[in-house]
Formats: sequence, C-alpha cells, structure tokens
Amino acid sequence: MKAIAALVGVTLLSALPNCAQTRDYPVKPVPFTAVHVNDIFWAPRIETNRAVTIPFAFNKDEETGRVDNFIRAAKALKGETFENHKFPPYPFDDTDVYKVIEGASYTLSVHPDPKLEAYIDGLIEKIGAAQEKDGYLYTARTIDPLHPHPWSGPERWVLEGVNSHELYNLGHLYEAAVAHYQATGKRTLLDIALRTANLLDQTFGPGRREIWPGHQIVEMGLAKLYRVTGDQRYLNLAKFMLDSRGPASKEEGAGNRYVQAQQKVVDQTDAVTGGHAVRAMYMYSGMADIAALTGDMAYVKALDKIWENVSGKKLHVTGGVGARAAGEAFGADYELPNMSAYNETCAAVGNDYWNHRLFLLHADSKYIDVMERTLYNGLISGVALDGKTFFYQNPLEATGAAGKDQRSPWFGVACCPGNITRFMASVPGYVYAQRNDALWVNLYMGSSADIKMDNGRTVKMVQETKYPWDGAVKMTVTPDQAAAMTVNVRIPGWARNEPISSDLYRFEDKNTMPVVLKVNGKPVPVKLDKGYVALNRTWKAGDTIELNMPMPIRRVLANDLVSADRGRVAIERGPIVYAAEWVDNPNGKVRNLMLPDAAKLTAEFKPDMLKGVEVIKGRAVALAFDAKGGVAKTEQDFTAIPYYAWANRGPGQMMVWIPNSVETAKPLAFPTIVTNAKVTASGKPQQRNLNVIHDGEIPTASNDHAAYFDWYPARGNKETVDYAFEKAGTVSECGLYWFDDTGQGSVRVPASWKLFYKDGEAWKPVETSDAFAVEKNKFNRVTFKPVTTTGLRIELTAQPQFSVGIQKWTAK
Ligand SMILES: [Zn+2]
Repeated sequence: MKAIAALVGVTLLSALPNCAQTRDYPVKPVPFTAVHVNDIFWAPRIETNRAVTIPFAFNKDEETGRVDNFIRAAKALKGETFENHKFPPYPFDDTDVYKVIEGASYTLSVHPDPKLEAYIDGLIEKIGAAQEKDGYLYTARTIDPLHPHPWSGPERWVLEGVNSHELYNLGHLYEAAVAHYQATGKRTLLDIALRTANLLDQTFGPGRREIWPGHQIVEMGLAKLYRVTGDQRYLNLAKFMLDSRGPASKEEGAGNRYVQAQQKVVDQTDAVTGGHAVRAMYMYSGMADIAALTGDMAYVKALDKIWENVSGKKLHVTGGVGARAAGEAFGADYELPNMSAYNETCAAVGNDYWNHRLFLLHADSKYIDVMERTLYNGLISGVALDGKTFFYQNPLEATGAAGKDQRSPWFGVACCPGNITRFMASVPGYVYAQRNDALWVNLYMGSSADIKMDNGRTVKMVQETKYPWDGAVKMTVTPDQAAAMTVNVRIPGWARNEPISSDLYRFEDKNTMPVVLKVNGKPVPVKLDKGYVALNRTWKAGDTIELNMPMPIRRVLANDLVSADRGRVAIERGPIVYAAEWVDNPNGKVRNLMLPDAAKLTAEFKPDMLKGVEVIKGRAVALAFDAKGGVAKTEQDFTAIPYYAWANRGPGQMMVWIPNSVETAKPLAFPTIVTNAKVTASGKPQQRNLNVIHDGEIPTASNDHAAYFDWYPARGNKETVDYAFEKAGTVSECGLYWFDDTGQGSVRVPASWKLFYKDGEAWKPVETSDAFAVEKNKFNRVTFKPVTTTGLRIELTAQPQFSVGIQKWTAK
C-alpha cells in the first residue's frame, strides 16, 4: 500500500497545475485567513471553537469508535481478524472525523499548533490505511464486506441513491482534504482524497454508473478538488452527479423528493415538502458552485426560484430551515411551527453556505441578510456558550421537558457538532468579498484584514465596532497606494425596515431614525443599490468610513399565512432575534405571557450574563385560568435574551414568538388532581417527556407536534400509562386527546382503550356506559361512577401496523 501511495503521490503532484480554471464566482470571498477578528462577540467564540470544541469533538470521535472504524477497516484489509465484528452504528460515521479535521485545519491556518497538527497526521495515517487498493474508502463496508451496514447494500454504490452515504462520506473527505492541504501544505489527506476521486471518475459518468449522491455534499467537495488541482474531471463529475438526479432514472431513489430527485435539478422550483433540509442545502450550494465554475445559467435560474420559495415561505425568523422532524424535512409553504420546529443545526450551516454562494453569484445583499440572520440566531444557537454541548434541533419554543429542549454533548448521529467546528473556524471568511477594484463589506465585526484584490492591489481594512450590540462601525481603509476603488458598504435589511427580502416577515413599526454614513467625517448620501452604498472614489491610506445604524428594539410580525405566528410578535434588535426564557421571568414560566403592543421595551447590556449580552426588558402580562374557567391577568417584569443563548442555564420554558393579545395567549392551566401526578408508562415511549400529558394545555389538533409522546417505532402494541396522585382524590371524568400524525408519520389513534382506577394494589375498570372513543382533534371524554383513588391507568392497544401516542390526559 505504501509504495502505491508514494507512486500515486508523485504522479498527482506532477499533474497539479496552479488553478488552471479561469471561470469561477464573479465575486470572490476574502479568505478567513486574511481577516483577523478581535471583537468581543466573535473572537471569543472562534477561540472557544479552537481551544474547546475541536479537541472535545476529536475526543468524542475517539470515544465513540469513529476513529476505531478506520483502524478496523485497515485490519480487515490486511486480513487480520479482530473482536467486535460489528459494523459502525451509521454508515456516515466517517464524516464526523473528516469534519473535525476540516475545522481543525482551518484553525491551523491562523493558529499554528504542532501538537494538533501531529494528531491530525496520525488520523490521516489511519484513514489512509483504511483505503482499499483502488481508492474506495468507506469503513461501513470495508470492515466486513460480506456483512456491511444494512444501509450500505450488498455491493458498492447500489444503495447510494438514498442512504448508503458512500459519496456523502467522500464529499466531507474532500472538504477536509483541501482545508488540510491549504493549511499545512501537506498532501497526505489530499492524495487519499484524489485517489477516491479518480475511482469515482472511473466508476460514474455517461454509460457507466449513473447515480446521484443520496446525501449531497460531494458536489461541493469535487468543486474544491477541481479548484485546487485544475483537473476538469472533478468538475465534470460534480455536474454529472447533479444532472443525473431525476424521476426518469432506473436507480433506487428516482423521483424521491426526500433526496431532491423528484425532478431534474434545473427544473426544480422549490424546497419541496418532505425534502431533507440538509441534503437540499448542500445540493443548492453545490449547484451554485457548478454554476459559477461552468457558467450554466439553467442552474442559476433554478436556484433563484428555489431561493424565492425558501426565503418567502419556508424560513424561520431565526434563519432556521427544515421545519419538520419527520424526515428532517422542509414542510409545506408557511408551515413554520415553533415548538416542533426541527431546524437542524446542519441545515443552518447549509443555509449560510448557500446564501453566501448566491451573494458571490449575484452581488446582492438580500442573500447576506438571510446569511446574517441565520448566523447570529439559528446557527450559533447550535452550540452552547461553553463550546461543549450542542443542539441538533433548534425549536423556537420549548417546555423544557422534552429531550430536545436540552443541549447534548454528542449525538448518535453526530453531524451537527462537526459542522459547528468547521463553520465557526471560518466565520471571518464571510466578512469581505472583492472583484477587481471593488470591495464588499458584508458583515460587521471588530477586525483587521489584509485583502489582496483581483487587480493585484492590497488593501488593509480595520473595523472598530461593538456590533451586534451597537450599530456604529468605524472602518479605516489603507490601500497600498492611493487608488480608485469602490467600497460597497452593506446596509443590512434590519436597518432599512426589511427583515428579509420577501413578505414573510415585516416590522410592526417603521424605524424613522436614519442610517448615517460618513467618509472622512463628511456625510455621504445613503443611496442603495442591491442593499449596498457604493463608495466610489480615490482611497488613500487612513481614509475612514463611519457607519451609524440606529438599533431600536423592533417587533416583527409574520405573514398572516404562518398560522403558528398569528397574534404573536418576535423581538429583534439589530441582527439579533430575542427569546423569553424561564430563568429570567417570574415563576419560571414564559409560555403563559402576553406582551401588549404598547408595552415599552428597553435594552441593557449585561457584561456578566451569558458571556455578555444585550437583554431586553419591559412589562408583560401573565395569564392563568382561575377555578371558574376565567382568565386572571397579572402584570409582571419581562426579560428577553438573545435566542442563540437559550438553554445555557438548565431546562425550562422558552418562547420566541410572544402573543400580543389575550386571544392568542396560553393561560396557565388551573391545577387539577393530575397536575402534580406522577406519570409512568410501559414500553419505550419516544420523543417527548411523559409529563406533557398533564400540563393542562389544549392541543390545536391531533397532529399538533408541540407536546406529546408516542411509542413509535413499536407498532400494534399494547401499552399502559399510569397517573399516581400525590394523595387520594375523587374522580368521575377523564379526557383523552390522541396524537395522530396521518400524512406525516406512522402514529394513529388507538384501536381501543380502557380506563382503570387503583383500588388498594389492584387496578379495577371504571363503571361507565360511555364509549371509549378514538376521535381525532378533540378530547374523548368518559364520565364514570365517582371513585376515590390514588391512581388511574389507561390500557391502550395500537392499530395493527401503526404506532400510538397521547397528547393530553385530563381527569377531574
Ligand atoms: Zn446535523
């Protein structure tokens, strides 16, 4: 193996031109290596990512056997036998190692660390040893080719169209390989990657295998290999894989919208309902790369339409995408739930990759508006302030009771932490872009940048600002010599009364405080073109640009078609979306609050709270049902924190969209005998904390995903759920609200159910002539002969082939 590796290395090296390709994005990003961030917001985060998250994630890769998979594959290739002959839990576990190598390589580019570099060298050796002779690299098969992972299929590539993830793994390998090569100048990982890419070139193409990656990213990865080697084959392959997608193919997955194969990519017009969000985001990003590298306008046309659909109908106010848990997918137009919003952290990362690429194609700030919204809210919410726990899902409302309401140090499917490591390390690369003698300033963060322009000139840009807490930004421009240049200064949508460029969200009021822009102390007109003020003049060393964007607290309203947000407002200040969290509000509750439109809100910077945040304060109204069913209102203090910082202080309630009327508010339930009951259940109820069934809330429908539990994936099963009361009480009525997700999932109302009460140690059926109904979208009530008891039991039987679940269970 070693001899072959060396030989291939030499051949590849001689074939490595210096970026032979001429066509690429019309606007080029200024690489993160050229931008040194020194502010109070990003610099500590980037450092936490380097010093804490990356070592932590490598450690988890080791601890969970992900590194071991490569060692086992290498042993298998040598014919060695070893214990623990199981395949890895998921066929894409290799990517978790690749992703962290990518993130670590980015940090090495700006922060040399011989120990880290040596550790990565060791990992690369293990990866190389797991590579098969012809370049194939996929531990889920190599470890035991006769018994590969069930998703992998009996032979290479046969299940690639949906779930084998062979190409997905390679896409992440390519991203890591290019990052490592650029950071260290070492070709070790790049050579491994190129050997796999050459195998792909021999395997796929017209007249050979015609299959697309079931989980995209190899397109972006191949584009990077093409840029770094100039080898046209990699570009052709990426385009081929995009173009082979569609309903006409004979491959598994043809026509499948979950993997974006419902249509040819150039004919796609929206992020289809049921389409996996991360896969979609990576595909759109890959399409943008191929469009830039080939000039294919059909791709651009399709991307523009898809963007209109996502930004107009499928984007949460936090920038999160992929509303549905079922299939980790996009929902229907305007299906933007709060409590059940899935919004995978990886999808937020993908959303930023995609929007940044669209900016590079179109030089329009509307893409940066979406990118910035996602970046400051639904993306960094994915990692805790200490850098050691993560969110996979990023809901906009929480009870605190569900597992998804708490950050986790790792996941069985661990895609999100790795994505955080690579994204955070490269954040400074999103600040500037350039073309010839034009510079774009896209993000504001205290920093110093040495920018090489396409025209051969260099410009030093220094930003002094307290953004995102303050909208004042001072920039000092120092070109290598006085020269004509256009500095395009971005005026974010939030500063010009347009949250994003669609009618999905709008500000409730109009900010009339003007944005002020000065060059060398003299005001210049704020004349916008694609969201930028173009400052076209002869710039000389030390020229200053002062931008002052007033940051009032804004209330945001959603399009009325978003039913989840009707009668509710979100709070924003600058690029930050706010959330009310239990710990800052009286009685540890926020979901029963109402914020009147007239309530005055003020902002205050708290340097010691949540690593320094601007909090928003005011007075809200807390609502609670009284004994007679009336609603009591209590005015109380109200505090909101940046959404990204929630769930750093223990589990509890959180809410982004706050009711602004009594009609839409959710009053606190009046205590009943079940309020403090202990809930237990047989079997393995999934998804949600059991305590949601007695929280006194009223679901909107049986398919309301806000707070329920179910026994999925068990089907046709018989289960029990028990209430144990604090002390004996008399009950004569129960109400059951069933969970049923027909159309989305496999949970249905039960085939039948029965009700028992505890008599001593025995369970006895209640005496009733009522039917035990299984109707959807309502409480199925049963009145019975009063019993004085310490507990109630439901026995339920699922329909054959289906799972069963409960929304609420009341008793009085
Ligand atoms: Zn993920």
